[in-house]
Amino acid sequence: MIRHYGYSDKTQLAEHFNVQEFRCKCGKTHDILIADELIDKLEKLFTKLNCSKIIVTSGHRCSAYDKSIGNSGVGQHINGNAADICCYGKDGKPISSKLVCCTAQDIGFGGIANITSKYIYTHVDVRTSNIWYGDEVVNYHTLTKDFYQYFGISKADTTSKADSQKAIKGIDVSKHNGLIDWNKVKSDGVQFAILRAGYGNLTSQKDARFEEYYQGAKAVGIPVGCYWYSYAVTPAEAKQEAEVCLSIIRNKEFEFPIYFDLEEQKSLSTGKANSSAIIRAFCGELEKAGYWAGLYMSRSPFVDFTDDAIKTRYAVWLAEYADKLNYTGAVGMWQKSSTGRISGISGNVDINECYIDYAEKIKSAGLNGFDNCQIVDAPSIAPVAPALPKSRNDATVEVSINGETYSGKLNKK
Ligand SMILES: [Zn+2]
Ligand SMILES: [Zn+2]
Repeated sequence: MIRHYGYSDKTQLAEHFNVQEFRCKCGKTHDILIADELIDKLEKLFTKLNCSKIIVTSGHRCSAYDKSIGNSGVGQHINGNAADICCYGKDGKPISSKLVCCTAQDIGFGGIANITSKYIYTHVDVRTSNIWYGDEVVNYHTLTKDFYQYFGISKADTTSKADSQKAIKGIDVSKHNGLIDWNKVKSDGVQFAILRAGYGNLTSQKDARFEEYYQGAKAVGIPVGCYWYSYAVTPAEAKQEAEVCLSIIRNKEFEFPIYFDLEEQKSLSTGKANSSAIIRAFCGELEKAGYWAGLYMSRSPFVDFTDDAIKTRYAVWLAEYADKLNYTGAVGMWQKSSTGRISGISGNVDINECYIDYAEKIKSAGLNGFDNCQIVDAPSIAPVAPALPKSRNDATVEVSINGETYSGKLNKK
C-alpha cells in the first residue's frame, strides 16, 4: 500500500527509516509518497547486508523534479515505490552495489539497478510487473535475470556477509578417497579438511583411514574437522551414535566442528519433528562433551526436515551441487561439488567453502580438544557460536588450572 505523508511528517516508519528521508528534493512542500512494502524490504536489506546504516539519496520525487534531473517524469520514484540508496557495512564503508543488487534480488525487489560506475549507489523499487534488473551505467534496460551471474558473485558472498569473512576452500574425505598426499593437497590451496570419523553405532565402523588422514593433515598444518554419518531413526539411537563418535575423536584436536551427517532416507522419512529430535540428541551429546556440534545435510532436506530452531542452532554445512547455494538463511559451510579435483588425491573430491573462522572461535573457547583446562559448564560456553539466541551475551565458566579453580563471566565481543 502506498501512503501519503505530510511534508513535515516525521513518522518513524521502521527501525531504520523515517518519512523525512524519502522527501522529494524539489524544494516545494508537497506530500511524501512511500509504499509500505518498500520500507519492509529495505529493513530486510538492512538486516541481510548487516548494515550500519542505509542512506536514502533519493526517495519520492514529484514528476516535475524527476524531469528536472533528466528523467521521464513517470516511474517508480514518482509513485513512492522506489529508493536510491547507499548501504554501509559495520566497518563504516559502503557495501558494493553488486552485493546490494544480489541481496535485493534475494529479498524480491521488482526493480534493482546499479547506479554509478563505482558501484556505490543502488536503485531499488517494489514494482510488481515488468521486473527490471539493470545497470544504469550501461543503459536503462533489463540486462540480466540473475545478478549473481551478471556480476560473477557467489551466493556464498551474500549468505556470509554477516560474518564478513572471506570464504576459504576445503575438502571433505573418507576412506573412499584412498591414499592422500597431504603436501600436494596443501600446495593446491586447500585450507581445511573435514574427515569422516565413521558411521552408525559401532566403534568398528570407524573410518578405516580416519587416523591416517588426521595425522596426514595435521602434519602439513591443514586444520581439520570431522563428520559422523548417521543411520539413526530415533533420538536414542542418535545419542548412541554420538557416544561412539566421541570415543573415536577423543584425544584429538579439531579446528572445525564435528558434524552430524543426516541424509539416510530411513532417518528423514520419520518426519520433521523426529529428524529434528535426532539432530538435537546427537549434537547435544557432543556439546555436553565440549565439542562444537554441526549439522551436514543437503539443502532441500535441511529446509524440509528440520525445524526453525535447528536451522540456527548448530554449525550449518549444506550440500548443493550448483553454481550457487539456493538458501538464504545463515550457513557456515557449503559443499558445492562432489566432483572436484585436488592435487594429491586421485579421482573426485568433495569441495567446500567455509565462511566462518571456526578455528579461531573453537580455540579461544577451548572446545574440540583444545582445552587444557576443564570446562565445567560446557553448554553455556556455546554463546560464542553464532547459532545461539541473540539475547545471550555472556557465559559463566569455571576452569581449573593446575588444580586451582577459577570462575567468571565471559562477555560476548
Ligand atoms: Zn517534488
Ligand atoms: Zn532510482
